[in-house]
Amino acid sequence: MLLDVGSLAVMGVTLGAVLGTAAKLLAVPTNPIEEELQNLLPGSQCGQCGFVGCAQYAAALAKGDTPVTLCAPGGAATIEALAKKLGVHADLDGHEEKGPEVAFINEDLCIGCLRCIGECGSDAIVGAPKQMHTVISDACHACGKCFKICPTEAIEMRPIPMTISAWHWQKPGESAHH
Ligand code: SF4
Ligand code: SF4
Repeated sequence: MLLDVGSLAVMGVTLGAVLGTAAKLLAVPTNPIEEELQNLLPGSQCGQCGFVGCAQYAAALAKGDTPVTLCAPGGAATIEALAKKLGVHADLDGHEEKGPEVAFINEDLCIGCLRCIGECGSDAIVGAPKQMHTVISDACHACGKCFKICPTEAIEMRPIPMTISAWHWQKPGESAHH
């Protein structure tokens, strides 16, 4: 019995040591500012910046490979926060501030082709083949991909009206999306 417990303990310690060493050796060096930049982004992974997700945009920003103005859902507040973090000028000329939006499907125009469901990265659309589809607005992060792909223009991006429950006082330095 003691032998069993002892050999198990030795195995556990050895495996732990191997995993710890591997984690150190295989660790991918990241630019420390990358995480800080990613924390300034909305995190909706919508791809409107042209990158796969917020982490990839933050990595490119940290390398100085891309401008701070690409995050549409983040708006002017996020652009200014990114520029401040990177110590660069926030060029807001021509920047069009878009308020919060949500996708809406006009069910009379929907032919149930399923294209929007395949496009939606946050599973915000429900529907069945040749049946009307609809958007679960709480799950939609307004990336606009469904709007671009719908063959019958059944989808519109609607502004979300600011209600007393949705409004909040922004903390100093807080971007519009945290
Ligand atoms: S892409 Fe348009 S037509 Fe096709 S299912 Fe979606 S809303 Fe309906
Ligand atoms: S805009 Fe359309 S594709 Fe994008 S999250 Fe909303 S429902 Fe999904």
